[in-house]
Amino acid sequence: SSDEEGGEEYLFKIVIIGDSAVGKSNLLSRYARNEFNLHSKATIGVEFQTQSMEIDGKEVKAQIWDTAGQERFRAVTSAYYRGAVGALIVYDISRRTTFDSVGRWLDELKISMFSSPIIVYVEHSAHSDTTVAMMLVGNKCDLENIRDVSVEEGKSLAEAEGLFFMETSALDSTNVKKAFEIVIREIYNNVS
Ligand code: GDP
Ligand code: MG
Repeated sequence: SSDEEGGEEYLFKIVIIGDSAVGKSNLLSRYARNEFNLHSKATIGVEFQTQSMEIDGKEVKAQIWDTAGQERFRAVTSAYYRGAVGALIVYDISRRTTFDSVGRWLDELKISMFSSPIIVYVEHSAHSDTTVAMMLVGNKCDLENIRDVSVEEGKSLAEAEGLFFMETSALDSTNVKKAFEIVIREIYNNVS
């Protein structure tokens, strides 16, 4: 491996999944551009956004994929998951049905990931690992007054499935940066 100064480059693919209207697109726009859209329509066009952070003095880039509304038709294809080394599985704390769907999303994620070749875009890493960093995200925690899923339920599902857990609000920015950065750090730890 090369010891060139600044020679290390990390690019990780991360996917965001979960039922329609849980706030996937707004979590991404809040993280990547600090934008929120109250009347966002189904995502059009944009496939992913790339966001950089520094870890151990190295530039680590996350290529974060958002569904283009296919989740509405339960038609997220394996191409969407291919090569992903991180995932955010999102539900809406004010709609229990979206929490009930988490298991199905997890199954789909696991099936897709382990049935396609894992591509880890890492140069100079000692080994590439097939571990996928996953976080369960309870979004819209600003809607405390109409909460339908308790923090404890979210936590215990995450624990049972071996996922990180965080409640977020794309609306008021609570924990958004933190959620993405925990996943990115975990991927980095997995491969470095
Ligand atoms: P997606 O279908 O999962 O991509 O969800 P969107 O990001 O398009 O959001 C669906 C709706 O929920 C939009 O009206 C957003 O404004 C709203 N929304 C997204 N995140 C939040 C949040 O954290 N809090 C609240 N109150 N509304 C949100
Ligand atoms: Mg969307």
